[in-house]
Amino acid sequence: MSVAGEVAEILKQFGVRSEGSLVSRSPIDGSEIGRASPGNPKTACAQAVKAFELWRTVPAPRRGELVRLLGEELRLAKVSLASLVTLEAGKIIQESLGEVQEMIDICDFAVGLSRQLYGLTIASERPNHRMMEQWHPLGPVLVISAFNFPVAVWAWNSALALVCGNPVIWKPSEKTPLCAEAVMALVRRALERFGDAPDGLVQLVQGEREVGAALVADQRVALVSATGSTAMGRAVGPKVAQRFGRVLLELGGNNAMIVCPSADVELAARAILFAAAGTAGQRCTTLRRLIVHESVADGLVERLRNLFAQVKIGDPRDPETLIGPLIDEAAFTGMTNVLGDRIERVDAVRGGFYVRPAIIEAPAQEGMVLKETFAPILYVLRYRDFDEAISLNNSVPQGLSSSIFTTDLKEAERFMSASGSDCGIANVNIGPSGAEIGGAFGGEKETGGGRESGSDSWRAYMRRQTNTINYGSDLPLAQGIRFDVAE
Ligand code: NAD
Repeated sequence: MSVAGEVAEILKQFGVRSEGSLVSRSPIDGSEIGRASPGNPKTACAQAVKAFELWRTVPAPRRGELVRLLGEELRLAKVSLASLVTLEAGKIIQESLGEVQEMIDICDFAVGLSRQLYGLTIASERPNHRMMEQWHPLGPVLVISAFNFPVAVWAWNSALALVCGNPVIWKPSEKTPLCAEAVMALVRRALERFGDAPDGLVQLVQGEREVGAALVADQRVALVSATGSTAMGRAVGPKVAQRFGRVLLELGGNNAMIVCPSADVELAARAILFAAAGTAGQRCTTLRRLIVHESVADGLVERLRNLFAQVKIGDPRDPETLIGPLIDEAAFTGMTNVLGDRIERVDAVRGGFYVRPAIIEAPAQEGMVLKETFAPILYVLRYRDFDEAISLNNSVPQGLSSSIFTTDLKEAERFMSASGSDCGIANVNIGPSGAEIGGAFGGEKETGGGRESGSDSWRAYMRRQTNTINYGSDLPLAQGIRFDVAE
């Protein structure tokens, strides 16, 4: 069956009609696979504000019930949705299944969270007083997502935003509108079973970046959670700051792995293959810089060259394939601009851009090594002493993910310490990509500083209120200030 035929079958299962002026193309063969209609930012914001008035008063555990139902719908539709991710974003089926599993996991997490939105009780300095803090719903949350995680990023944000009492507006990538339509179909099923959620609680606003920009500028959006390139974040961040809105940025990475002399090199090689070549190098956490001790560099690089030469590249629907296509021609051009005639295009499916992952020995960390090229290019940098390795890890503008392979406890601890990696994620003996939802996800510097998903990331979706209660008969002022009228 053609790619478009397979997509049509899946959309039918979701009850999604493919129509409108937005065209979706499959990276598998470049063919048109469906259409979607651009949304109206103003109407969406107005509806979200209305929905907020009601949703914020629904008890959080009841809000959790909606997310629980969504998790059930996702479980039932896991294979179909994952297949659509493969067809529209080009991920291999294993990774697409993993992406939908991530949605299920965050739903489970958020259901538990709906009974744990704790504030603190704080000792008051005044007699007969009590202090506490509460976490209240924030307001409409805008989720802007990138093509490479066409469904999971929405779920990371929305599962939390919904239990926190906020309506959600989703502006997905213009490259993956059909995945978004399918997810919305599942949301509608969950809403129907839930019963009495307000209209406009979860909305999808399709469109190009201008649609995103209009939503970002809208005063009614309380939180903009934007995932994408650093260039996008540079445009979005100041716009939201100007109107004193809240922003959560998840931007580009330039992630490194340090391989030390004591490392289990075979384990490292396997981790590098997945981290550098998986998802065709199109993960924000993709390994882009290998910082390897000179004593083990030759052997490791040779092993990697062998692995990269053998890895099966091709149609992501084929279960044997480990590397699918780049998203489009622009991505291929970006990779060609770096590699020139060293680029190895693979003749897999006509109309798609398939490439062999590249290993480049970089004499110094400069030029393109400092940039995120969203394609499978792994730069190898050699080091002599450990301080130099840490310095190389940190001397790039981005600060998302990092990792170290070592069996030396001192090196591992130093890497995770205050004087170690400056990234939001620092792993030991696993690669930099493939995070679990239980931890807070995000990075520093040009990665934007945002944290979403697990741990206490939920706080970004709520407003904190400090309460002081006087249960006595006097009115003592804080800091012992006296302010009495002498009568
Ligand atoms: P992109 O920046 O081109 O687009 C991302 C989204 O932002 C799209 O929905 C797009 O329409 C929207 N957008 C772009 N400019 C905008 C503007 N001025 N105002 C409002 N919306 C705007 O990114 P992409 O090519 O889809 O994705 C790849 C990039 O995303 C890489 O840099 C990757 O590292 C990053 N990414 C980061 C994370 C993370 O969690 N840190 C996760 C996934 C992807």
